[in-house]
Amino acid sequence: MEPLTDDDVPAWWQRLGLPGLIDIHTHFLPDRMMRRVWAHFDDAGPLIGRPWPINYRWDQDARLAHLRRLGIRRFTALTYAHKPGMAADLTEFALDLSEENPDCVPSATFFPEDGVVHQVRSALDRGARVFKLHPQVGGFDLREPILDEAWGLLAEAGVPVVIHIGSGPVPRGGATGPDKLEGVLRRHPNLTAVVAHLGAPEYAEFLDLADRYPRVHLDTTMAFTDFFEDVAPFPTELLPRLADLGDRIMLGSDFPNIPYSYAHQLKSLERLREQEPGLDDDWLRAVCWSNGQRLIGD
Ligand SMILES: [Zn+2]
Repeated sequence: MEPLTDDDVPAWWQRLGLPGLIDIHTHFLPDRMMRRVWAHFDDAGPLIGRPWPINYRWDQDARLAHLRRLGIRRFTALTYAHKPGMAADLTEFALDLSEENPDCVPSATFFPEDGVVHQVRSALDRGARVFKLHPQVGGFDLREPILDEAWGLLAEAGVPVVIHIGSGPVPRGGATGPDKLEGVLRRHPNLTAVVAHLGAPEYAEFLDLADRYPRVHLDTTMAFTDFFEDVAPFPTELLPRLADLGDRIMLGSDFPNIPYSYAHQLKSLERLREQEPGLDDDWLRAVCWSNGQRLIGD
């Protein structure tokens, strides 16, 4: 297949008859923090593991403009804390951003610390429509008792929580892996969890969780790209299960923190049909639009 460039993206979704794209996994952070995150990627630090040249190292206005040029009708401002005392400010930043930018879904985060229930409740009160947690960076266990009431609130509210819980790119003992999420789901089976990166590299285990818990979704973030396939290839024999779970797979990109173009993520999804015919245009329409619309659309 021919390479697709970002300029081609509007034609890509128009061909599918879509009004645009919905991306549940994009990042916005206060400027100083974003620069610090990029510095970590530059250093290929211990949680990153390999060179990771950021493709969209632009200021915030340019990044917002680019998403709109691509036709991303709804996107998120996922933030996450790596230590106590940060989550409330990050949530405030993200919610302020979506007040100024209605196409940015009101986004929030929380952290296992005193006041976590208040963090979640006040974010919901301010209209948060999606949360993000990153235990691989935060070094905590989703099953920590201090989080239990927060999970209950989120399950009841039906608001999705995007969680980087797979052990890629680098596992973190006590924090990553399917058993952590499973422990939460056992207590809160209705939680709307969105497993980031399709759960890489524990793809099969997270698909099992999605089979057992009907509110578990998975996002495509970085999956199937050349960059990801090098280190955490998605097993071909699991592709039919992605077709079966077509109403629970959602487009995610990790924009802007990706070492390739946005278009490459889309092309990587489109080329799956060469291996599994069930991953066809209908599947793409669900992944790139309807599933997202159901969870974070209007
Ligand atoms: Zn991410």
